[in-house]
Amino acid sequence: MLHLLLQLAASGTTLVLLGTGTPRPNPDASGPATAVVVGNRTFLFDAGPGVMRQLAAAKLPINGVTALFITHLHSDHTLGLPDLMFTSWVMGRQKSLVAFGPRGLRAMTDHIIEAWKEDIAIREGGLEKEVPGGYRVSVREISTRVLYDSAGVRVLAIPVEHGDWAEAYGYRIETPGKVIVVSGDTRPSAALEAAARGADILVHEVYPEGRLAPEPRPGGESWPAYMRAFHTSDVEVGRLAAAAKPKLLILNHIVRMQGTDEELLAGVKRGGFTGRTVIGHDLERY
Ligand SMILES: [Zn+2]
Ligand SMILES: [Zn+2]
Repeated sequence: MLHLLLQLAASGTTLVLLGTGTPRPNPDASGPATAVVVGNRTFLFDAGPGVMRQLAAAKLPINGVTALFITHLHSDHTLGLPDLMFTSWVMGRQKSLVAFGPRGLRAMTDHIIEAWKEDIAIREGGLEKEVPGGYRVSVREISTRVLYDSAGVRVLAIPVEHGDWAEAYGYRIETPGKVIVVSGDTRPSAALEAAARGADILVHEVYPEGRLAPEPRPGGESWPAYMRAFHTSDVEVGRLAAAAKPKLLILNHIVRMQGTDEELLAGVKRGGFTGRTVIGHDLERY
C-alpha cells in the first residue's frame, strides 16, 4: 500500500526539458528553460528564447505558470522573459507572474514594461480589452534559501559560482515524489554538490573538457579561462555526480565545441560517475 502511494506521488511529478540550448541559435535546442510539473502546478526555471513556443509544444499552460525561477541574468536565460510576460497576458493571464531571481530582476522587468508601454496602452485601452495590468510581474529578488513551500512542494535557492556574476543560482525542487536539482550556469559548485546529494534527477550544464582551446577570433585566447571560470566540464560533472550520487544525471546547456555525445558521456565516466547519464533534448520528459 505504501509502495503504491509512493508510486502515485512519484508519477505526479514530471520534469520537462523545454529548452536545452545555449546562446547559439539552434532550431532543435531552444533557449534555456526547464519545467517541473506537479499536478496542476508548473514551476518554470529560466526563460530563454523560445520559452512560450516550447510551453505550447509541451502542452503546458500558456496563460501563466505557478512561479518562475531565474538562475541568473545572462541574456540566453532571460530573452524569453518579455515573451512570457506579455504572451501569457494576451493568452488570458489575470494575475501577476510570480518571479524569483537575483538582484537586478526587478529592474529588468521594469525596463521590459517600459519598453513595451505602447503595446500595453493599445491592448488595454483599445478594442483588444485585455485585462488591465495582467502583464505584471511580482518580482521576489532572492534573500532566503526556501523560496516556495506549499502543498508538498519546496523550492530552494542554491547559490552557485558563475564567473563574474555577483549572483547566480541553481535550484532544488522537492515534491512528494521526487527531488530534482537544476544547476543553472555554474563552475563546479560545492553547494550544488551538497544540494544534489541523493537527488532523483540532477540536470547539469556541461562542456567537453577535451575540446577546450583558444578560439580563432579577437579575444578568443581567453576562451579557456572564461569556460573554466563560468562553466563545468564533463569530467568535473562526473566528479560532482560521483560524490552526490543522483539516480539520473541529465546533461543540459551543452557548449559543444564540436564535442560528440559519446565524448561527453566518456568524460562524465572519467570523472568517476558510473550512474545513469543521458544527454537532454528539448521536450523530453522524465
Ligand atoms: Zn547560459
Ligand atoms: Zn550564464
